[in-house]
Amino acid sequence: MTIEVKRVSKHYGTFNALKDIHLEIKKGELVALLGPSGSGKTTLLRIIAGLETADEGSILFDGDDLTHIHVQHRQVGFVFQHYALFKHMTVFENVAFGLKVRKKRLRPSDAEIQEKVYELLRLVKMDGFANRYPSQLSGGQRQRIALARALAVEPKILLLDEPFGALDAKVRKELRRWLRKLHDEFQITSVFVTHDQEEALDVADRIVIMNEGKIEQIGTPQEVYEHPASPFVYDFLGNVNLFHGRLHKGKLNLGSAQFEVPDHTHVVNTDAVGYVRPHDLAIERTKTSEDAILARIIYSHIVGPVAHVELRREDTDEYLEAEISKEHFVQQQFRTGEAVYVRPKEVRVFIPEDFVI
Ligand code: ATP
Repeated sequence: MTIEVKRVSKHYGTFNALKDIHLEIKKGELVALLGPSGSGKTTLLRIIAGLETADEGSILFDGDDLTHIHVQHRQVGFVFQHYALFKHMTVFENVAFGLKVRKKRLRPSDAEIQEKVYELLRLVKMDGFANRYPSQLSGGQRQRIALARALAVEPKILLLDEPFGALDAKVRKELRRWLRKLHDEFQITSVFVTHDQEEALDVADRIVIMNEGKIEQIGTPQEVYEHPASPFVYDFLGNVNLFHGRLHKGKLNLGSAQFEVPDHTHVVNTDAVGYVRPHDLAIERTKTSEDAILARIIYSHIVGPVAHVELRREDTDEYLEAEISKEHFVQQQFRTGEAVYVRPKEVRVFIPEDFVI
């Protein structure tokens, strides 16, 4: 089922929580709504679900306008961060609940319900836990049951709000991989809210990046990571080094160094900022080109195959972060306190406004 969010706006009193949101989600897609706290992710998810009404705009499922259709009739499944399971019911009863409360003519037989529940429990690898109560499960196991319960009623759309938010890093990672697998198997159009960049980059087909009630960018993980549309997206998706300078006809002048930025040959004499990811900063002993900046190594540590190096620019005292291969770091015998040259392998420049000749 496709989802279309058309020009949706939402106010809480005078506060504008969503500003003219437009979004199209394809059938079977797994889409992440990603953004900092308060950016409007949950509000948008709740409007798609029908738990909240928009002031303006409409929500379409498969082209049908559901803006005024009650949540009960939208056929959506939910999993929330703190979506407590029914405490007094066993795992089996929790998963069976949505089927058992159906109107008589729609309700499957007891045998069919049993078969369906065990099929789902096997899928979420919890079939040995059918008779346990929620208090006898770990957080990750509870979320798996919450997901099985959401899937039991065969929703057309699955909406997840920080489903793994309360779990520790290792369990989160395991569960998100598993969510991806499950999604591929069921092919249900799914939208999940997260403020965790890595989680979104890791599992989503497409990411919607939100900021202050607006969509900053929509794209595949690769698109948004490699081609951020705004400084906000650049900054939000991972660490970044900023180089403030003056942009003139394809060159960003930093005083002590100059970056080539061929995308901006039409810009003359304006303030601009170069964005460079830590893994795009090379560290060298000698100055090989005009874009090399003198910096001092102040700290380094190795994690797996990567050496994380913190440096301070000699000209501005600003901190820089670089990530180079452990092999290169060890081979070069870089030392704390040593002065080296850093050179960007890839720069992305953002300017407040372009001055076109
Ligand atoms: P988080 O990651 O912290 O959950 P979010 O991106 O999901 O944040 P929302 O929950 O959608 O953000 O909230 C967006 C903004 O709307 C916030 O500033 C929030 O304070 C405000 N807001 C949300 N619900 C209400 C409400 N019922 N009444 C008033 N303001 C609200």
